[in-house]
Amino acid sequence: MTKEVNLTQQLKHYFGFDKFKGDQEAIINNLLDGNDTFVLMPTGGGKSLCYQLPSLIMEGTAIVISPLIALMKNQVDVINGMSEESGVAHYLNSSLNKASIQQVMDDVKSGVTKLLYVAPESLNKEENVEFLKSVKISFYAIDEAHCISEWGHDFRPEYRNIRPTIGKIGNAPVIALTATATDKVRTDIKKNLGISDAKEFKSSFNRANLYYEVRPKTQDIDKQIIKFIKQHEGKSGIIYCLSRKKVEELSEVLKTNEIKASPYHAGLDSSTRSQTQDDFLMERIDVIVATIAFGMGIDKPDVRFVIHYDIPKSLEGYYQETGRAGRDGGEGICIAFYAQKDLKKLEKFMEGKPVAEQDIGRQLLQETAAYAESSVCRRKMLLHYFGEEYNKENCHNCDNCLHPKDKIEASKDLLVVLKSILAIKENFRQEYIIDFVKGRGTDDIVSHHHDQLEEFGSGEDENPKLWNPVIRQALIAGYLKKDVENYGLLKVTAAGRRFIKNPEKFFIVMDNEFKDDYEEESGE
Ligand code: ADP
Ligand code: ZN
Repeated sequence: MTKEVNLTQQLKHYFGFDKFKGDQEAIINNLLDGNDTFVLMPTGGGKSLCYQLPSLIMEGTAIVISPLIALMKNQVDVINGMSEESGVAHYLNSSLNKASIQQVMDDVKSGVTKLLYVAPESLNKEENVEFLKSVKISFYAIDEAHCISEWGHDFRPEYRNIRPTIGKIGNAPVIALTATATDKVRTDIKKNLGISDAKEFKSSFNRANLYYEVRPKTQDIDKQIIKFIKQHEGKSGIIYCLSRKKVEELSEVLKTNEIKASPYHAGLDSSTRSQTQDDFLMERIDVIVATIAFGMGIDKPDVRFVIHYDIPKSLEGYYQETGRAGRDGGEGICIAFYAQKDLKKLEKFMEGKPVAEQDIGRQLLQETAAYAESSVCRRKMLLHYFGEEYNKENCHNCDNCLHPKDKIEASKDLLVVLKSILAIKENFRQEYIIDFVKGRGTDDIVSHHHDQLEEFGSGEDENPKLWNPVIRQALIAGYLKKDVENYGLLKVTAAGRRFIKNPEKFFIVMDNEFKDDYEEESGE
């Protein structure tokens, strides 16, 4: 009997499923062969099974590192309820008392526990390291692996200690899993976990059933949202706001308008929060108004809309949050409200932070702004952000594709940009390059003596609004790329160099224009 047949039988035996989804089987085989494994799969793709099934088959205990204590219990209950053998999964975290910890340790020792969920803080604790040294470990699974990178949307410093701790406990294969990772984050994860040779399994991140739209944030935003919800009466949805205050306010506004809504943020006590979560799952309420504290691990398959009241802090976060819509493959409407003023406000919030952190924060914000302002297919932009090329001319399921703008031919302008970037040795970011092309002698440019170069000001006669779309769309088209190590520095790709020798046609669409008439009611 072949291994494959065996695995399918095991799948049926433990989980009751008839066949594997996507790359699951190849992933599991790679891990069973003792190799490090890196899984990039969108939400709902079936990541958990990739470590749950092998843990049940392999000798010893698998250590699953997962960031959220609240979710651990839930995951453990699910797996214990699913498989025939009960009590094969346990967790160790700060919510357990001494006696429960002892019980878990006994179960692990006696070999009953096949899956041990641990929060990174608990893993790194001295006494747990000592204990785990004596345990036969089948492999380590690092869930939500993007938490390891400052460039991810949910950085957790404790994730950085995972590798050193594994070194202390004892080596075993590592499987890292995440639903979001740009090239930059992917590089960080591999480096930090010391799994540079890991086999990568990347599924497409395209969620064809999700509709993406960006609306200018105007004074009537609340009215627009109420109207939208009434048009989708009885459907479940999530509205994300950046501040707790806005969450509370908007939730009140919705209730006043006879919409069944509840607020959710980290400032509410945990019983209220889990009540709200239950109400949402059981459909006693339709809408959750929440900060980003809500959502990780929420498995409601029929969320029909996700609205962003404020611009998200990163595109990765945006993808993750919108990913909670339409997990069952049905309709999922994702609308983000955008005002350039919000961008400035967020930048201001960052001012107190360490300089390096501010720098990362600003660049991530600019990527979101580029997404919001662009007239290019939203899907194409999002997928490009995750290193995936989307080749269709029109996705028919985003605002920009449903209302396409006229294209303009900009090969001359692209040429100006490419030559300028080479002239300044590919060592600068977008804003600098645009100043250079426009011939603005900023202090920075003068101090580099770049105002002396022939290419300085080579685009000064052009429409100044042209340069952002040219550069952003040249990135998508692959003529330019962002340096992964020194993130943000623009480099000319091989295709870009070919273009200089042999220019071809290059069509772009101008960015959307945003009028900023949105004023926050003051009263703080
Ligand atoms: P992710 O962690 O990638 O978001 P999950 O592990 O929560 O995804 O899986 C999403 C859903 O798919 C779950 O309801 C899970 O039970 C189901 N699932 C996973 N693998 C299979 C399979 N091989 N066949 C059918 N359903 C599956
Ligand atoms: Zn589109």
